[in-house]
Amino acid sequence: MQSSTSDDMLLQVSHLQKFFAVRKNLYSKPLYVKAVDDCSFSIQRNTVFGVVGESGSGKTTLGRVLLRLIEATGGSVLFDNTDILSLNTQELRLFRRRMQIISQDPYNSLHPRKVVKKLIGEGLQIHFQLSAQEIDTRVRDILTLVGLREEHMYRYPHEFSGGQRQRIAIARALVLKPEFIVLDEPTSALDVSVQAIILKMLKDLKKDFALTYMLITHDLAVIDYMADYVAVMYLGQIVESGSKDDIFKRTAHPYTSLLIDSVPPPTPSEHWSGHILNGEIPSPIHSPSGCRFHPRCPQAKEICKTAEPEVVEVQPGHVVMCHFPLGS
Ligand code: SF4
Repeated sequence: MQSSTSDDMLLQVSHLQKFFAVRKNLYSKPLYVKAVDDCSFSIQRNTVFGVVGESGSGKTTLGRVLLRLIEATGGSVLFDNTDILSLNTQELRLFRRRMQIISQDPYNSLHPRKVVKKLIGEGLQIHFQLSAQEIDTRVRDILTLVGLREEHMYRYPHEFSGGQRQRIAIARALVLKPEFIVLDEPTSALDVSVQAIILKMLKDLKKDFALTYMLITHDLAVIDYMADYVAVMYLGQIVESGSKDDIFKRTAHPYTSLLIDSVPPPTPSEHWSGHILNGEIPSPIHSPSGCRFHPRCPQAKEICKTAEPEVVEVQPGHVVMCHFPLGS
């Protein structure tokens, strides 16, 4: 979607699908939850690609399918021009080091019975077969880099604060020298005061190590601070994507517009249009017909109830899935 050559692209995703089968009981026919439905996009090297949407929009599933933490139902994912969905287990292991994930809840992602040295060092052993002394040195160095100390190597996850645990999770991903990291709501479980520090650290690390991030969040302020490009997800589909400026200043999809308007201004004295997003995101098992957003869309017309909109490019690199894009 960005106007760049394929060599600039680290990740090229085409028609990606992930459907989950659910049954009411043992004998009933399966129904399918379309968690990710025909998503296509590209991520340029050394950029931050933000994915935003309400809870239940499919953004976390999208991140996990890209890394093959869960298997896709269809589509392709080219990572550095290799289709990682077609790799066997052995081949995939070589790519695992290059593609990491940092999850929302660092406590759950860190084994409670392993000390930090083990948590960070085991990846080094698996991927680089380093000696015990080399692992010690690398773990010590990476802890310093994320603002922790040597003495922390011998402590367990429960001995740290939430912010420190997230630093350990970042160190564990970074020590493998990845090129691409999925940041899945990396600060949403942290105190507000700690969130800004961790985001600033992630931004600095990206610059220092030429990293590429896919940043999954429901928080538009985080997108505004971190992202270069943005995809807006609704019920498993990307309904709008483009540069951050396209999304915030030339918003074309009614859902994106309502998401932005729903954010109260930082100070009470500022004018707030007060538009809010009515209702909840429908169940993905029974997605609405036509445009999936039509039951909540203030711009909906008759055709929206029956015909699914095509993806149209409203300007170079800025695409929208709507019959009546805003501003056109
Ligand atoms: Fe709203 Fe219709 Fe556009 Fe869907 S297609 S977002 S219902 S105007």
